[in-house]
Parts: sequence; C-alpha cells; structure tokens
Amino acid sequence: MKIMKFGGTSVGQPQRMHQVANLITADKEEKIVVLSAVSGTTNTLIDISLHLSRGDKTGAQQKINELENSYQQFIYELVKTSAFKNAAQEVLKEHFEFLNIILKISYSEALNKDILAQGELLSTKLFSVYLSEQDVQHVVLPAIEFMTIDVDDEPQIGNIKVRLLQMLQQYGQEKLFITQGFICRNAKGEVDNLKRGGSDYSASLIAAALEASSCEIWTDISGMHNNDPRLVDHTLPVEQLSFDEAAELAYFGAKILHPASIWPAQQYNIPVKILNTMEPQAKGTLISEDISSKGVKAVAAKDGITAIKIKSSRMLLAYGFLRKIFEVFEKYRTPIDMITTSEVAVSVTIDNEIALDKIIKELEVFGIVDVDREQAIVSIVGNEIVSDTDTLKKVFNSLSNIDVRMVSYGGSAHNISLLVSSHQKVQVLQQLNNGLFGLWPT
Ligand code: ASP
Ligand code: MG
Repeated sequence: MKIMKFGGTSVGQPQRMHQVANLITADKEEKIVVLSAVSGTTNTLIDISLHLSRGDKTGAQQKINELENSYQQFIYELVKTSAFKNAAQEVLKEHFEFLNIILKISYSEALNKDILAQGELLSTKLFSVYLSEQDVQHVVLPAIEFMTIDVDDEPQIGNIKVRLLQMLQQYGQEKLFITQGFICRNAKGEVDNLKRGGSDYSASLIAAALEASSCEIWTDISGMHNNDPRLVDHTLPVEQLSFDEAAELAYFGAKILHPASIWPAQQYNIPVKILNTMEPQAKGTLISEDISSKGVKAVAAKDGITAIKIKSSRMLLAYGFLRKIFEVFEKYRTPIDMITTSEVAVSVTIDNEIALDKIIKELEVFGIVDVDREQAIVSIVGNEIVSDTDTLKKVFNSLSNIDVRMVSYGGSAHNISLLVSSHQKVQVLQQLNNGLFGLWPT
C-alpha cells in the first residue's frame, strides 16, 4: 500500500486532474490518494468566512458566486459526457447549496471549519466523477470518518489506524482509495482541520497508520531545492535528505512540506518522496532514515520573526533565570524558535506575536526588554555540518557584509541558524548560494 498526495496546483486545473488520474493508475499497487483543495479555493473559503464573521453577507454572497462560476468552468472541461457533467453538477449543487444556506446561519468557529472543509470535499468528489467517467474503479473514503484529533488538536494515530483498517476491510477487493487531505474531526465531534497546508500531514498520518511502503507528496516543483527557487536564481533539487534534515528545512521556511508531516513518517520509518506532477519523470527528493551523505544540503529562510532581548544584571551567576523567562512564553502558549545567551542577557525569537504585549509586560519585571520586529531566520541544514569547521567558515565568509543579529550553532548537528533583518533575507540567501554551493545567477 502506498500513499500519494496531490497538492492544490496538482489538482488546480481540469487537465491537471486528468494527469493525476494517469499517475495514480500507472501501476497496480494498492493506494490511498489524498487530495488538497483546488488551488485558491481554501483562500476564497477563508475570505467568505471572514465576510460572514463581520456580518457582511453581501460580500460573502459575491465570493460564493465567483467561486461557483469558477467551478462551473472547471467541470465543463473536467468531464465530457452529459451523464458525468450531470454528476459533477450534482456535486457542485450540494456544496454550493450548503454555502448559500450558511448565509442565513449565525457565524461560529464550528461553522468556519465547516466552510473550510468544502474545498477538499469538492476536489475529491469531482475527481471521483472524472475517474468514474474513465471507468477507473475506486472508492472515496470520507476523511471525517477516520482522521481524528484530540482536545489539544493532536492527531490520534492509534484511532486513525483502527478506523482506517475497518474501512479498508469493508472494501476487501478494492485497490484504489481517494480521500480528503486537511479535514478531520475534533474531540467535540465537529468537523475541523489540520491547519493550513495540512494535507501533507494527512498523507503522512495515513502512511504511518497503515505502515505504507511510501508516502509520495506530488507538488509543482521537482523536489526540495538547495535554496528557495522563488527568491534565488539558480537552485538545484536535493536528491536525498534524512528525516531530521527535512524537518529542519520544512520548519525553517522551505514551503514544500508541512513541518508536522515529518514526524509520523519518521516514527514509522516511511520513506517520503517529493515529486512533481508536471514533470513526473524527475527524480525529486527522497526523505528517509538514510543519513549517509554528509555536508550542507540546503538553506531556507523563515520570515515574520520577532526577536526579544531581556537584559538583566540579575542574570549574572543566577540560576533559574531562564526558567522564569521561559515560563512567561509558556503561559502565553508562544513557542520560542531560537535562543542565544550571554552572561547578562538572553535573546529569543518567536513567530507568533499574538501575546507579545502581555509577554513584554511580564518580562519587564526581570530586566530591560528590547524588541526587534521584521526579522528572518536563515537556516543552513545538512548532516553533521556542525562538526566540520569548514561550513561555519564559509557561512561567515559569505556574509561579511551582513548584520547578523543572532547565531545558533550546535543546538543540533544538522542546523546552523542566523537571524537577520527581513530586508536582507534575499541577499543572504543569494550570497549563501554562492558561498556554500558555488551556484551563481545564470
Ligand atoms: N487546502 C488546504 C490549504 O490550502 C490544505 C492543503 O492544501 O494542504 O491550506
Ligand atoms: Mg501544500
């Protein structure tokens, strides 16, 4: 059994869906196909929800109509025969009726989640209509019936496994299953989701639960690159990454893979392949437990970082000082990414500013607090790069003209992180591309 997940752009046009159908029927291995919403749909649904939350029904109605028109166009090219055009029409009718009904219901967080779920429901059901037109035998598994999260929004892998196995057993002879990414059921029994980009997470959770042979993440780029291809000229795909390297890269800005999707695959040792729907023969990136290749693999950057420095002479020779500081962040459920300390000061970074004012107020009890906004973490990732002195030397040689605000080295053997001002991010990535990989703009 293998898992194949297709992202929003991979199902973003009728022709792409046709291509996905070719890819999933290319071999006879039993598989579960996980689909995202058609690209742009989740954003529009969020927009509709936002209008509703503000009581702007006209605005919401307009967005719903626009979305419906785009889907009308979509199904027109997706299927050919009138019987299947009707079937696709039925799918649209069901989901757009729902969206029109909610205009009359008062807004709630639960309703918001129901709205967001429509994207993946539409994409999987329309895809199913196309497969049926092509005479491809398959079953649609509703994610809501097996993908569950607990009160802390954590997926319940044991439960997912039991439910999935039960459902699969029900369809003894079937070889092809289609399901929704992103959508799940929460502890209250309501429809919920695994957060933005969560379809990758769905795929790896399913792969882990079923101990699949592999988890293929099909996207619109041929694997993870050594640097951000949207920002830097001349990047190359990375053929192999260990789980640890991939986790660091995914977390620190490589947008290809949802960061949380690494742990289930790592824990159950399921190889993850990043592949390109538009270029299926390209090698892509294999993420596995193999850690044979050494050296720097890639750099990535994460924006929207805030650095907080707490300076206090009370820290001098004191113990328990860091704990007190960390407790403030814990209290406001704000994760810390980077930390550096000197004898009288500690700097930390966060990427969630929601509780920042309250955090600052409490930290001021301990000392002088300085806040730097609009920072970026640039991470250099590779196997054992911390033990080869060469990498650090190259990093600093490449960045002699850059103001580096923080450096984190040795926290993990696979990561060197720098904090720089956001406006220098692209320049830093470019200079590292030259200095670490010898790649120059083409
Ligand atoms: N459709 C969801 C999103 O856009 C989930 C996903 O595509 O992974 O965030
Ligand atoms: Mg994605």
